[in-house]
Amino acid sequence: MFTCNNINLLTFTYYLKYILAINMTIVPFIYFYLNLINLIKNKKKLNKWYIKRRIKPIFYIIILFTLSLILHNTLNTSNNICYLSATPKIYHEYKNSYNFLQNKDIDSELKNNYLNNILTNKSNNTLTSTVYKQANIIKVNEEKNSIVEEPKVIVEDNFLNETDTNIQNNVYIINGTFNYPKYVYGNTNTYSGMFCPSDPLNNGYNNPYGYNNYFYTRLTRFIEEARNNGYLITISSQGCRTYDTQINYYNTMTPGRAASPGLSLHGFGIASDLEFYNQDGSICSYFRTDSSCPSMGWAHQNAEKFGLTFPLLYSNYKEDWHIEPLNKSKY
Ligand SMILES: [Zn+2]
Repeated sequence: MFTCNNINLLTFTYYLKYILAINMTIVPFIYFYLNLINLIKNKKKLNKWYIKRRIKPIFYIIILFTLSLILHNTLNTSNNICYLSATPKIYHEYKNSYNFLQNKDIDSELKNNYLNNILTNKSNNTLTSTVYKQANIIKVNEEKNSIVEEPKVIVEDNFLNETDTNIQNNVYIINGTFNYPKYVYGNTNTYSGMFCPSDPLNNGYNNPYGYNNYFYTRLTRFIEEARNNGYLITISSQGCRTYDTQINYYNTMTPGRAASPGLSLHGFGIASDLEFYNQDGSICSYFRTDSSCPSMGWAHQNAEKFGLTFPLLYSNYKEDWHIEPLNKSKY
């Protein structure tokens, strides 16, 4: 059977798909936008030469469009696994994993199966631990002489029973659910970031950053347990984010990237950003996956056991580092 389990073939197909898509959308759009509108605006100046000069490219653009469409339809059939697999998500995951596995001393058949699972959208859960073992990413625990595969997470007290009705920075907790105010425009009491403590340690906080005490406790336990399992994770954000800082982020970052001022959970001290590290101590690169950055993989897999969640894993602007309490409610 024809297979696309080849980085060069997949890369070629991926860019071909891109070029075809551009030929069918952006090229005609730009042409019509720049020229046809111009043509309509300048009716008075119309003459044969002008029309000829403007109309001629349409012919080529229609040919380009048609050829691209035919090629796209021919390739986009159910048996062309390569063309179907060449989506941005699969391509980047495949490429990252390919680079990750490339220099590791791993059985080539295992490598192939691993990559093939990515191509065919199958889960790699069962293969990951074998790959990590062969790549020496999972450390063998010498005392017990066993391999640490499934870390046993012990949360001493049940976080679901946490209750703290003392409102701290507008947040209170009942049965493990973090309650924060519903944003009302014009009511500064409901804006996040308005009440970040300036001197947290002297104002009843258990941390110098202004994080909610219960959120901070969950976070530190989570990070501690990661370390117990051989994964290094740190808190990279500055703590409670003030309203002014959020305005600054909102105005300077790509639209959609930062929450609207007044809405970010960072401003209630119940959101944090984490930094993930590789086994060699270096920081995981920006383009990473759960498999190329095992500490992050561990974090995503185990957060819920600590009453935490990564809500932006599948958002348009993916933030695989942004962590919040699991259960939240607006009041
Ligand atoms: Zn964040």
